[in-house]
Amino acid sequence: MLRQFELIERVKAYDPDADEDILNRAYVFTVKMHGTQQRASGDPYFSHPVEVAGILTGLKLDTDTIVTAMLHDTLEDTVATPEQIQQQFGPNILRLVDGVTKLSKIEAQTESERAAENFRKFLLAMSDDIRVLLVKLADRLHNMRTLHFIKNPDKRRRIARETMDIYAPLAERIGMYEIKDELQEIAFRELEPEAYETVTSRLEQLRAMAGDMVPRVIEQLSLTLAEAGIDADISGREKRPFSIWRKMKERHIAFEQLSDVMAFRVVVPTIADVYTALGRIHTRWPCVPGRFKDYVSTPKRNGYRSLHTTVMGRDPLRIEIQIRTADMESEAEYGVAAHWGYKQGQKKGTKAKKVNGADAGHQYPWLQDLLDILENAGSAEELMEHTKLAMYQDQVFAFTPKGELIRLPKGSTAVDFAYAVHTNVGDTAVGAKVNGRSVPLRTILRNGDQVEVLRSKTQTPQAEWDSYVITGKARSAVRRYVKEREREDYKNLGKQILANILSRMPAEVNDSAVKAALGRLKLSDLDALYVALGKHDLADDAVMEAILPGSSPTPGKAKRGKDTPIAPGGTPITLKGLTAGIAVHLAECCHPIPGDRIVAIRTAGRGVDVHTIDCKTLEQLSHVPDRWIDVAWLPQDEAPSHYTASLLVVAQNQPGALATVTAIIAKTNANIANVKLSQRDQHFHSFTLDLEVADLAHLTSIIAALRAAKVVSSAERLRA
Ligand code: MN
Repeated sequence: MLRQFELIERVKAYDPDADEDILNRAYVFTVKMHGTQQRASGDPYFSHPVEVAGILTGLKLDTDTIVTAMLHDTLEDTVATPEQIQQQFGPNILRLVDGVTKLSKIEAQTESERAAENFRKFLLAMSDDIRVLLVKLADRLHNMRTLHFIKNPDKRRRIARETMDIYAPLAERIGMYEIKDELQEIAFRELEPEAYETVTSRLEQLRAMAGDMVPRVIEQLSLTLAEAGIDADISGREKRPFSIWRKMKERHIAFEQLSDVMAFRVVVPTIADVYTALGRIHTRWPCVPGRFKDYVSTPKRNGYRSLHTTVMGRDPLRIEIQIRTADMESEAEYGVAAHWGYKQGQKKGTKAKKVNGADAGHQYPWLQDLLDILENAGSAEELMEHTKLAMYQDQVFAFTPKGELIRLPKGSTAVDFAYAVHTNVGDTAVGAKVNGRSVPLRTILRNGDQVEVLRSKTQTPQAEWDSYVITGKARSAVRRYVKEREREDYKNLGKQILANILSRMPAEVNDSAVKAALGRLKLSDLDALYVALGKHDLADDAVMEAILPGSSPTPGKAKRGKDTPIAPGGTPITLKGLTAGIAVHLAECCHPIPGDRIVAIRTAGRGVDVHTIDCKTLEQLSHVPDRWIDVAWLPQDEAPSHYTASLLVVAQNQPGALATVTAIIAKTNANIANVKLSQRDQHFHSFTLDLEVADLAHLTSIIAALRAAKVVSSAERLRA
């Protein structure tokens, strides 16, 4: 077990200015807090956080990270409180420890490959300070190193599976290849003990037979290339049992046929050297047919460039060799780091000696960059900016109530979530609960939100959703539905228009005459005719002409009669000038009521909007006179009794003012549909009132009554 002074010595070795005091205090704190708790190994529990800290010193991480590692289990497993940690170690350490604790609480769901991939990305997105993730990975590594102490085989397998599916790929993703290899190795041994045994014993046999081949092959390669005058950097290693096993499985081949037991890398100065080196190597050793790949002239999709070849070495060994330039090498190695925008200029062209991973400082080049940033960042924000994992900053991860992870683009709303779960769920969504609280569907989701979609059988997609959904799936579903409904509206409208046209024909027209006209109008069927009429794509006169040439009042002129009725989907009221049964919208801008002089405006797909003749909206419509319809109110007893009108009432700022106003309105038998306090200062309150009134006379009497009241300083009908 790592001792207190050893740990501090390790930190001091790479960071002579490290704060020894805080390291000592963290050590004492974790020992005290974990007290007599024990690990499955029988060791005192605190050996675990200390070992985790030790792993991180191997990565030369900053003092905050080492301290966090020592404290990482205290919040979860001991009586230590956040306040204690904040008080003794500061808010920064608390934030980091808290981050690690949160990651540990999330139960991984690894039943499917997609779920595992989502979970990895979720971990990345949650770790907005990469040091949290580093501690978590070191924690997992130490738990894997001590996995064999756990007695329950099911538990061991579950942990190993999770490591294989989640943590090893995660380590790889952020460039920690060494940790990835070790995690995979231990998990492999646990999950497939027989396979592990087979591969390792074969490797041992091989070594016993041929000795350690790696240095000898490097020497031979060096000599061959030196003869050609190529200045090459050569490294090589024996492959790990897990990667050997994976290759065997992928290619369905036996160990003997496997060429990838050893891998070598040749790094040369120029692209010309790359091909020269290849030629030399192929001259010296016979190449294995079918194994040569030129990713230099044809790079892989992620930009990876290198030559790959396999040659026959001394029987029975085959040797895999990658040949590339220093530039290609750094691209391949810093690929991930490059994603994060880390500077890498000074790394290019440096010659790293990496025989058997001897030079540890070069194993994690991006980490060195990270350390530079940690040291040099001017502010907390700048630090966050640099250490954030930019790769997934454009995504958000939310859970279903059952814990399934749903990945969405950033800015997604509850509707996007609903559609991501299932189209049916989206179509019938009426509301959502986020983390147990009811929220509107337009609510933008945040990382880690648990979202429950509330549904109703009678709900259908709403046109307004289109204004705030951002995923393609949700958007296309909403639009498709709205379009269908619109077409249905046009069809109904067109049916009524056709009935009106037929009634104006000089002679009686039967169905077959109408059907015969479809061909002349180049329409496929009756529905198409309805839609064309409803959409205003086809003029009334054109239809009349098609049915009975010479029958339209203005042959050849595409203009619809002024009194043509219109409109489904509005209020069921009737106006003079429109055919009975056709619904009408009373415009929201001017709220016409009976008694007002009005005009109807034909609106594509919506029917007619009725405005008061003095409404400002009409000014914008003066250029389309053919959409105007002259209409008038029917006598009172034939019309419904509720019309909405808006009032602006300014009342004195005194107790009971609003009550007085509403009492006056109640006395006039009008309903208040809505009240809004629109302005308020020291002396006056302004209210906007939506009233349900019978007609203009009714409204006028209400305004008069209000103006008569003492508290009311003015009452005005509101117009757009
Ligand atoms: Mn732990």
